[in-house]
Amino acid sequence: MKYKLVCFDVDGTLIDNLTFSWQLFHDHFQTDEHKRDDAKRKFYNKEISYREWAEHDIQLWKDRNATKQGFFDAIDNGKLRLMEGAMETLLELKKRKLKLAIISGSLNIILEKFIPDCNDIFDDVFLSRIYFDEKGSISKVEATEYDMEGKALAMRKIAERENIRLGECAFVGDYLNDRKIMEEAGLGIAFNCRHDELKKVADVVIEKKDLREILRHII
Ligand SMILES: [Mg+2]
Repeated sequence: MKYKLVCFDVDGTLIDNLTFSWQLFHDHFQTDEHKRDDAKRKFYNKEISYREWAEHDIQLWKDRNATKQGFFDAIDNGKLRLMEGAMETLLELKKRKLKLAIISGSLNIILEKFIPDCNDIFDDVFLSRIYFDEKGSISKVEATEYDMEGKALAMRKIAERENIRLGECAFVGDYLNDRKIMEEAGLGIAFNCRHDELKKVADVVIEKKDLREILRHII
């Protein structure tokens, strides 16, 4: 088989009706917009790291007393759902012994809702994690370092460990933060993508919103 590792983005790729999980939760918990904008600007000016930005924004959720149930309400209200054909696609790739990974800036709570057995399906899961105490309040946070340009680093890390060449790696994603990893992967698939900048660096562009469409390009 030409490809040995398939990496997936989450928001907009494995999960439908979603561009940014962070935005969804900020809207739901009605966090302070000025503080959000300020942290975002600091990140883009390289004054703070991605991880610091993420931790800052999670603190805003804490300030609003966000609970686990609140996160699930946001997911329900946003009408999020698993992408059409996602499960069949993942299981087919797994059956064919390909390594599977999630490399995403999304949050563990979304996967917990839609792919509760994700640790059995994926060999590696890179995303930000929030944990809750018995009352449902946020107790601990582990923000990922592997969003944006960092996504490519995560793929290289897996490839190195597994002795796989980058040319044998495939990546599926939808947004501009996927650009760098899309360029580095042997097969870059732009899926459910509305951005020409990403489509331009992709090897394959899939317009039909059914994840099974990726299979014939990988297998
Ligand atoms: Mg995405």
